[in-house]
Amino acid sequence: MATTAERRDLSERYDPSTIEPKWRRRWEADDLYRADDDAPEPKWYSLTMYPYPSGTLHVGHWYAFTVPDAFARLQRMRGYNVLFPMGFDAFGLPAENAAIRNQIHPAPWTRENIAAMREQYRQMGAMIDWSRELASCNPDFYHWNQWLFLRMLERDLVYRAAGAVWWCPKDQTVLANEQVLEGNICERCGSDVFKRDLEQWYFRITRYAEELLHDAEGLDWPDRVKTMQRNWIGRSEGARLIFALETGDTLGVFTTRPDTVWGATFMVMAPEHPLVAKITSDEQRSAVDAYIDHTRRETEIDRQSTDAARPKTGVFTGAYARNPVTDERIPIWIADYVLMGYGTGAIMAVPAHDERDFAFARAFDLPIRVVVQPEGEPDLDPATMPDAYHGPGRLVNSGPVDGMRIPEQLPEVIAWLEAQGRGTREVTYRIRDWLISRQRYWGTPIPIVYCGTCGIVPVPDDQLPVILPLDAEFTPTGQSPLVTHEAFLHTTCPTCGGPARRETDTMDTFVDSSWYWYRYTSPSEGRLPFDPERAKLWCPVDLYCGGIEHAILHLLYARFFTKVLRDLGLIDHGEPFLRLRNQGMILAVEGTKMSKSRGTQIGPDELVHAHGADALRLHLMYLGPWEQGGPWNDRGIAGMERFIRRAFTVIMETGAGPFDADVPEAETAALRRLTHRTIARVTEDYDAFAFNTMVASLIEFVNELMRLKDGPLARTPLWREALETLVLLMAPSTPFVAEELWERLGNVYSVHQQPWPTFDPALLTERSVEVVVQVNGKVRERLQLAPDEAEAAAKQRALESDKVRAALGGKAPIKVIYVPGRLINIVAR
Ligand SMILES: [Zn+2]
Ligand SMILES: [Zn+2]
Repeated sequence: MATTAERRDLSERYDPSTIEPKWRRRWEADDLYRADDDAPEPKWYSLTMYPYPSGTLHVGHWYAFTVPDAFARLQRMRGYNVLFPMGFDAFGLPAENAAIRNQIHPAPWTRENIAAMREQYRQMGAMIDWSRELASCNPDFYHWNQWLFLRMLERDLVYRAAGAVWWCPKDQTVLANEQVLEGNICERCGSDVFKRDLEQWYFRITRYAEELLHDAEGLDWPDRVKTMQRNWIGRSEGARLIFALETGDTLGVFTTRPDTVWGATFMVMAPEHPLVAKITSDEQRSAVDAYIDHTRRETEIDRQSTDAARPKTGVFTGAYARNPVTDERIPIWIADYVLMGYGTGAIMAVPAHDERDFAFARAFDLPIRVVVQPEGEPDLDPATMPDAYHGPGRLVNSGPVDGMRIPEQLPEVIAWLEAQGRGTREVTYRIRDWLISRQRYWGTPIPIVYCGTCGIVPVPDDQLPVILPLDAEFTPTGQSPLVTHEAFLHTTCPTCGGPARRETDTMDTFVDSSWYWYRYTSPSEGRLPFDPERAKLWCPVDLYCGGIEHAILHLLYARFFTKVLRDLGLIDHGEPFLRLRNQGMILAVEGTKMSKSRGTQIGPDELVHAHGADALRLHLMYLGPWEQGGPWNDRGIAGMERFIRRAFTVIMETGAGPFDADVPEAETAALRRLTHRTIARVTEDYDAFAFNTMVASLIEFVNELMRLKDGPLARTPLWREALETLVLLMAPSTPFVAEELWERLGNVYSVHQQPWPTFDPALLTERSVEVVVQVNGKVRERLQLAPDEAEAAAKQRALESDKVRAALGGKAPIKVIYVPGRLINIVAR
């Protein structure tokens, strides 16, 4: 309620330990941050990646969260109906491994962590609508993973297949390709991973490859993320050529350079190609087997390395193929640089025009034939070429297509190959289907039973959810712990009623995070994963914030699921997140990744205790460019607290008025400009995600108000406006103290429901000019002043200058003349 700030307030000091709990309780009692599905304002959906509840929050979490929280608050003040929900990515290996370490079941352990983390979010003043909270380990959430799995199965977007899959020996489970990092490393635990042959469940993400590639172009996402996704999807256009083998088999080859087929002097197959065993000659068999064994221990990343220094290895199979255009007999090798999953697992080698083929040919003394000759240059000589030539030129040694210009006439070459029946135009992708089976306990059961009579049978919708039993032995053994849970394992077949066995693998937890934000729009929906009407109201997400480490994994899967949900008719858009911003990572003081076990993790609780949540929030925004991150330091946090104190002081001392001084317009103009300039800078910095400069603008504003607070301007109505503006501009970043100051200024609760201040662009154009200050005719100082700086302010600035005071030497000025924009002349005796 509006009250006039009373005099007693003037003696009070800023004390976050009383202000922050007070407003936290009030906001919660009033449900201030509940998002209203029926509000008439335009919607704004701000989302941050939901955290693993694997412990307590550390400053990295706060760093990731403070900015989206401030931005959501800003959007609300700008008049949007804002949805800003939070939940917990509660299934998965981090929780399970921590539970094993701590010798307690993942369920209560997860629940306790969620309670602790929820409390920490409250402590930081989060604008979260807790009525929509979700945890992916709850049956009313994972029920819908199972439902979606079944819908995808009906559409042939789910399948079961055997093949070599990545296995993490530490986590005792298979991994998706996306979870294997550069250098053979498990994305979860950092262990070296290797391949095993297993039958597993897959999501057919490749069906959406073209759409995933194409739709990304229109998104307001960091280029870096778009590029990583584009490379991961890896589209190539070219042709498929068929090479006949002397065994009677054929080898399909995909190439982006079908124009160079006349230069194909040998072939290379992936060591795991199914034809290798069949075509290998008896003399070569032991060498081939040894090489296959060697390749199994290598990572795909290593094998795809374009590093010229990586030595080329390979073995001749003893078999030969026919070049489809020259009919020449060419040898077939196997080598690790050819991958089974990309293209057809076999290549035609054109050493003259491909780096890796060139290195391979040189290493094994295989023939090199030039078929593209750069124009206007000496003929390329295979004997002396230092490396492969892949630039433009004319085709040579290429029979009927000799003389064609490459790359311009490449389509004509492909047309010739097609007309002759020697090849077909084709597009391929690097992306592989998403392996979702996991041999671990803490995840969503896959809703499938195996019946001796009926085979693979989906669990009917009315028997969902398949509940994860909480009394399972969850220590990892290499097979799912559910295998040993008799009551779970044995069931009856939904089709024939006979005895059947449940699928015991659980789903990759990236399934949970592929659609969770839709659930926030209708968290208690019981018929479908979410209410399509509510999803339509709030989605797509307007701003999504999270770590760059999810550039491929989560963000690609989420886009895939959105397209599937669209094709299921549940939503009408095809992209989940319109705008994406990635924070950098806050590192430990010494520049390494923060780690709980090494004791380098910084918790926020002591910092909040010492300086207040508002100061910590500001400090995290002021550390540097948010998208960069960097090593943690707490040197600046006291400075942020000092800034808040100064803002508090200037409002306590001058906020009560009276504001009735009659100061000429000319003198108030600078203050008005300062206020409007600050609004403009803070607003623009928020939109540009430039939070450190945003904070700097607030600090400058307060410094200027401190300088002016004892003068006549501080008793004008304009001063009051400046103070209110300051509080409004502080509200998103320092929500507690802003609420307190708003009340102390006698305004109506809550500052977080006020409109964001606007600025007059006409007041921003001012540039400062240099004004010369003379003392008794000699230039002593040059000041930067506004062209129309008020006379009193200009004279004051001149007389306060150290240089002017030195020149005066203690003498009192008897006359000061001010020529705006040019000169201040001081006469003293
Ligand atoms: Zn691992
Ligand atoms: Zn059956």
